[in-house]
Formats: sequence, C-alpha cells, structure tokens
Amino acid sequence: MRLAENKRLGKKRRKPYRKSGRKNPEIDESVITAESIVDGRAARVIAHHGVAVLVRFESGEEKQVWLQPEQKAVVGDRVQVAGGRLGVEPAHGILRRRDPRGRERTIATNLDYLGVVVAPVPREPPGYIDRGFVIARAAGIEPFLVLNKIDLDEDNVLGDRLAEIYGPSAPLLRVSAQSGENVDLVKALLANDSAEEATTPYEGKLGAFVGPSGVGKSSLLNVLVPDLALRVGELNRGSGKGRHTTTTATLHSLAGGGTLVDTAGFKDFIAVDLDPLDAATHFPGFEGAGEAGCRFRDCLHRTEPDCAILAAVECGDVDERRHRSYVQLIEELETSDGRS
Ligand code: GDP
Ligand code: ZN
Repeated sequence: MRLAENKRLGKKRRKPYRKSGRKNPEIDESVITAESIVDGRAARVIAHHGVAVLVRFESGEEKQVWLQPEQKAVVGDRVQVAGGRLGVEPAHGILRRRDPRGRERTIATNLDYLGVVVAPVPREPPGYIDRGFVIARAAGIEPFLVLNKIDLDEDNVLGDRLAEIYGPSAPLLRVSAQSGENVDLVKALLANDSAEEATTPYEGKLGAFVGPSGVGKSSLLNVLVPDLALRVGELNRGSGKGRHTTTTATLHSLAGGGTLVDTAGFKDFIAVDLDPLDAATHFPGFEGAGEAGCRFRDCLHRTEPDCAILAAVECGDVDERRHRSYVQLIEELETSDGRS
C-alpha cells in the first residue's frame, strides 16, 4: 500500500512518542503503523542500534530515530520519518541468516544484488556457489560471482572454469582486493541505475557479499568503502585486525553510487531454509533449458517424465556434472531441512 493513501487518517492519529522504548498505556499501539505515518521524509535505515535506528535521508543527512514498542525495522528498509516516528515500507529482496538458536533472522532488506565471493584459497565447500545463487534468486535478489585473489589464480585456471559454469548465469567479476585490480567492476555494477529507478531517492543498487571465511569479503569491503574502518570505530564495534564482532549489519554508500551492506559479522547466511523446489527453479545453469517447461510444475528434474532439464542433459545442453551437483543439493535439502 502506498503510504500517501492514508494521509488524512495518519494526521489525525499521530500521537506523541516516547523515547523509552517501553509500552505506554496511553498510546494505542495498534495505530502506530507504517500507514499512520505520512507526508514524512523518505529515508533508508542504515544501522540498527536495538531501540533505535540510524536513517539516511536523500540529502545525505543522517538521523537517529527511536523505534516504537514492538516496531521492527531492519537495515535496508525504506522508511518515512515524521515527527520523530518511523513508518516502514514493505520490503523485497530480504536476506536472512540463522541465529545461534537456529531461528531465522533478517539481516537486510531491499537487496538488489548478492555477490557470492570465492577465492583460489581457501576454496569454498562443494555446492556453495549454487546454494548462494539459489538463496538469492529465491529472495528476488540478483546474484553475481566474485572471484577474489586473482593474484593467486595462476593462469586464470579457476577464473576460466567459473566463467564456463556460471558465465551464462550471472556476471563474474575477477578481482583482487589486495591490489585493487578490477574492484571498479563491483562499483560499476552497484552504481548501475535505470532511468526509472533514478527518480527514487536511493541512487544505485544495494548489494551484499556472502562467502566462506577467508576469501576476502572484509578486504573487499574496505577497498570499496574507504571510510569503513573509521565508521567501525565510530559505531563502537569491536574491531581487531579487521575482525568484526558486530551483531547487526550496516549500510555504506559508495562514492560513485550504490550501497553495500557490511555483513562481515555473519557467517551462516547460506544455512537458511531452502525448499528443494527453489533449487529446481533457480539452479544456475538451468535457466535456458528450464524455459521449455517441464510437464509437472513442481518437477524436481530427477526422474520425472517430460522433464525439460533431463532432456537438456540428454542432448548435452546442460552438463551432466551440473545436473549431478544439482541432485546432490536437492538431496541435502531433503535430508537436512534445508540447512547446511
Ligand atoms: P573474509 O573472512 O572473507 O572477510 O576475508 P578477509 O578479508 O579477512 O581476508 C582473508 C585473508 O585474505 C587476509 O589475510 C587478506 O589479507 C587476504 N586477502 C584478501 N584479498 C586478497 C587478495 O586479493 N589477494 C591475496 N593474495 N590475499 C587477499
Ligand atoms: Zn523437470
């Protein structure tokens, strides 16, 4: 629902707000919703501090806004700010993780891109990239692949192999966070803005990195966001030798447009629940073959009759090894409730 539609209603219902974050019996909590806050200034949540969030307006101005009791807002959320209150707009592109108790938590919303980062060392576990792609696409987020540490990729062996497998599915950016080589490609991807989207107050795309520990996600973030180290200090987050101990993500604008989520504190995004059907629909490499359509809408491309993917494997359009990787992922999802 467009926030503006409830303009009159919202004005009438606006109540004084409290900073304590505790329940106030005089406030009817039920009316404090996104719809009750109108003609506010559009902003985006760039950091979460428990009872308050830091938002950034179009002008670049930042402001801390207290959350109402029970109100939820996440980094990446588009909000309206009026009278010290926050209205959260419906989000897309939601990135989740699993907390230590096994519950799913939202890390960030409104993501356009998810960069799956890998490196010659350490190599990612088998199926890691595929899982990352499927998670992203199932959430409506466009994946891209980053091969970091190209200085260690002798004769471009790994880069060429990845290009062969994933080139037709998504952009592959071969970079070195250490030398800075090609990191401009990441910037260019995130700065990309269509004319239509340029009318929104948020320039460029919102992206995040995911990848196994040690592939260079923090290094990449530091190259792309030069003031990050400073900001880490400002936000009082523990940082020793580039290791973050933060428990919430933060958003960082890139100089040429685009925004990156600092997710360095999270390691297990890839462990969220996934439905085997998500994998069947979004597995990288099946795009073209899948367009032909299988007989069954919930086809898992294993032994089903009139399966477009199996037919493509048969005639060589889909590599048999890719299909085997796919079946392995499906089996993992079926035996582990989707958790890795
Ligand atoms: P993260 O765990 O994914 O955040 O990885 P880090 O950013 O902490 O990097 C892990 C290690 O890889 C560090 O020792 C970095 O110095 C190193 N590293 C990062 N980028 C590169 C690169 O492009 N080339 C090389 N050779 N080493 C890199
Ligand atoms: Zn099928």
